[in-house]
Amino acid sequence: PNYVDILGVPFLNTTRSQFVQHIQQHIEKNEKAFVVTANPEIVMKAAEELEYMNLIHQATYVTADGIGVIKAAGLLGTPLPERVTGYDTMIDLLHKGNEKKHKIYLLGAQQDTIDKAVVNIKKDYPNIEIVGAHNGFFDWNSDEIPLEIEQKQPDLVFVALGVPRQEKWIATHLNRFEKGVFIGVGGSFDVIAG
Ligand code: UDP
Repeated sequence: PNYVDILGVPFLNTTRSQFVQHIQQHIEKNEKAFVVTANPEIVMKAAEELEYMNLIHQATYVTADGIGVIKAAGLLGTPLPERVTGYDTMIDLLHKGNEKKHKIYLLGAQQDTIDKAVVNIKKDYPNIEIVGAHNGFFDWNSDEIPLEIEQKQPDLVFVALGVPRQEKWIATHLNRFEKGVFIGVGGSFDVIAG
């Protein structure tokens, strides 16, 4: 099947490289997408909280982030091929983005972390255009960040606000954007910052 259901969460049946290719097609066609890379913690949270489950169901794609999800899928008799984690997917998308000169926006983490992440991305992926970067501690009632994204039209928006804030932020604002692949990436900026 195209999807594997685990406790009500619909996981895309895909390898990471197929998924990254698929996301490239969204970018080429300027088609919006909302990606959740769901680990077991996310599955349990969604199973327990209807509000969070509803957020997950607004995603265009949910991928299996973690060996626990792969094991659960196997036990249910509907195996998934491999993990598609937020961090690995982000790195793959940066590689592709460097080849294709994509525009990206980074949202999340502490200011010093995002500053270092920007420096490292510029160094490792020099053809990527970082159209904006904002720390993850902002006023949710302010229009500043969504307005900036709307105007700069990045191909990719990495949202590292932790769970469930990143899913909530994407679901809240997605409607107003014309394009962009939005993906929640948890603590990935901290890893990229080194
Ligand atoms: N974070 C943020 N805004 C917040 C809370 C957290 O930008 O209001 C950032 C935090 O600095 C870290 C990332 O979100 O870079 C992931 O945080 P955490 O490890 O708590 O999230 P989880 O592991 O649950 O995804």
